[in-house]
Amino acid sequence: MKFHDAHCHISRKSFLKEFDISPSMEVWRKMGLEYVIGVSTKLSDSKKIVEMQRSYKEIIPGIGIHPWSAKKPLTEEIKSQFVNLTKLCEVIVIGEIGLDHHFIKKEERYPHQVDTFKFFLELAEKNKYPVNIHLKGAEKEGAEILGSYKFSSNNVLIHWYSGPEEVFRKFLDRGYFFSINPSILSGSPHIQILKEAPYERILTESDGDVNYNINSKKIIGSPGIIPETLKKISIIKKETVEEVAFQLQANLRKYVNKLQR
Ligand SMILES: [Zn+2]
Repeated sequence: MKFHDAHCHISRKSFLKEFDISPSMEVWRKMGLEYVIGVSTKLSDSKKIVEMQRSYKEIIPGIGIHPWSAKKPLTEEIKSQFVNLTKLCEVIVIGEIGLDHHFIKKEERYPHQVDTFKFFLELAEKNKYPVNIHLKGAEKEGAEILGSYKFSSNNVLIHWYSGPEEVFRKFLDRGYFFSINPSILSGSPHIQILKEAPYERILTESDGDVNYNINSKKIIGSPGIIPETLKKISIIKKETVEEVAFQLQANLRKYVNKLQR
């Protein structure tokens, strides 16, 4: 059984402290990991993931600036460094990008979030790169901005969605992908997304190295938690786990349509 992790901070310092990447990758590969999208939150982990993809064929690099890191205006220098990174990769995803008014309370930062988000959306639109989106407490605003770009519905992934129902419906109508998170193993309301999104529009993610509390056990997010997440998905979707895994791998290839294998 093959699987993927569509959103993991595999190049983040804290992740690399938890997981010795070479032996860990070997373990995940043996479990069936075919692809992991290594998303970034700023320039340094973006550079790191572009470097790491050279050593691991499973890694699809994701570059971008997370709304938590969008604290000031983007300089031309920073923008050109990101553009240069895209030239070093055959396959690339733009993310993690988006808006966050829930965890970020300083309103003076919101315009920087919007400008940063728009810079990366333009880059993605122009080059037909898939986008990996974070929206928290600003789902409506995010939906409006996303709707003003010409993306193929296949190229938009909403990660760990937990916002208002009406925006969820709008995203479903637009045909976006939703990545399902291991929080469904611990009775999180996120399970509603899994129940209502069609099987053809879901992917799996760990958001590593986020900590989960599953059956009173602390588990650090990594690709290693995906097989258990797939089992839960198969129960909810009333399919065999093999069938679910097969469908989700096909979904990933639609989301990242440049994959060669
Ligand atoms: Zn994330």
